[in-house]
Formats: sequence, structure tokens, C-alpha cells
Amino acid sequence: MRLIDTHTHLDFPDFDADRPRLLANAAARGVERMVVLGVYQANFQRVWDLACAEDGVHAALGLHPVYLEQHRPEHLTQLREWLQRLHGDPRLCAVGEFGLDYYLEALDKQRQQALFEAQLQMACDFALPALLHVRRSHAQVIATLKRYKPARAGVIHAFAGSYEEAREYIKLGFRLGLGGAATWPQALRLHRTLPRLPLDSIVLETDSPDMAPAMYAGQRNSPEHLPEIAEALAELMGIEAEALAEASSRNACELFGW
Ligand SMILES: [Zn+2]
Repeated sequence: MRLIDTHTHLDFPDFDADRPRLLANAAARGVERMVVLGVYQANFQRVWDLACAEDGVHAALGLHPVYLEQHRPEHLTQLREWLQRLHGDPRLCAVGEFGLDYYLEALDKQRQQALFEAQLQMACDFALPALLHVRRSHAQVIATLKRYKPARAGVIHAFAGSYEEAREYIKLGFRLGLGGAATWPQALRLHRTLPRLPLDSIVLETDSPDMAPAMYAGQRNSPEHLPEIAEALAELMGIEAEALAEASSRNACELFGW
């Protein structure tokens, strides 16, 4: 099975002790490429160093809404400078992770919106896909995307919305990132939605070290687990795992221009 993990945080210290072993094992298990995403200004260099050091590792850079308190206005300027400097380098594949998080009530919505729109504008300006974190904020994200219409669209990471929301994203050209969340027995709505999603709208992801799948409950998630996640998702969708692997890899390659 050949797979692409479109969303990992492999630069996090959680992986410092065994990153080379993990990368070798993921590759041996068929995970050919992965995207490591920046979340705040302080980790951009680590993410970029990782993409430079490892074949098949690509970088995205962005300011994540959950770290709103850490972001400073100059970090947006610096993000733009990074994107400018790396423009055209194939190791840089997207702007992200950014978006809107309405689940955590302490995060000011207006400030989140400003940060979201500034980065959407960068995705448009540099013609890069946008990798989006969307939690309890689908209506607002969809409305904003309709205004900006980013040409390369992107991924709604860890998609757990309704079928109707999925359709709105697909109409905007976005792909839906699926991973460990759907493997949990309590994810009932997602289980009903999955078989209805067109196969050409899906990409796979782990969000490691977070979002452990049910078969690795309570453990650190890893790109190494992507084959089992793909198998569980394919079963929920009523298709062969190989068909899901093939379609999701093709979709990711198309999106990122690989
Ligand atoms: Zn993430």
C-alpha cells in the first residue's frame, strides 16, 4: 500500500528520541511522503530543517489559531517573508496550519478571523494550497472561503463535519483530510458521512502526535500507523483499502503538484 500523510507534526519534541527510526519504518510501511506543518513562528525553522534533511518530507508554514496568544503582528510579516524566500522550492508545499477554532471559547473570534484572512490572502498571493484547522466553525470558514476563492484550494484537516458541509468544501475545490477520528466507535455521524463522500475529495492524514486511532488508543500517533488507519477507513466506506490508498495518494499529488 502506498500512502501519503498530509498532516503531521513530526517536528514536535514528542519525536525527538526516535525520529529517524520512525521515518524509516513509515517508509517501509509504504508512507512515501508526508507534510509537516508549522503552527507558530518559533517552529518554522525546525519544520523547514526537517523538510531539507529528509526525502519525502514537505513543509507547510502557518500560524495556528490555538496558539493565538503567542502570535505577534510581526509573525505574519515573517511568515510572508518565509513564503517569499521559499517561493518555487518544491519542499514548501502549502500555507498551514491555520484556520478558525470556535471550540476553545477563550480564543477571540475577531482576532482569529483577522489571522485567518491574512493567511488566506498569502495562500492566494503565493498560489499555495491552504491547510485548514476548522473546529465548530464550518459556516464561518465556508463563508470566508467563498469571498477569497483560493485558486489552489487545500485541505480541511481532520474533517468531522456534516455531509452538507463536505459538499460546500468540495464545491470550493477543497479536499477533506481523514484520519484517526473516524476509527472511534462513537464517531457515528462521521461513519454515516464517509461512504457518501466522493473518493476524489479525500486525502489521508494522522495529525501525529495527536488524534490516535482507536487501535492505538492513548498512545502517541505516528505516520507509521497510516496503513491501519487507511484499512479502518476503507472498511467504513465499504471499499478496498488499496482503492482508498490509491485515490487518496493521487488526490494529494494533484493538490500539491507532485
Ligand atoms: Zn495539526
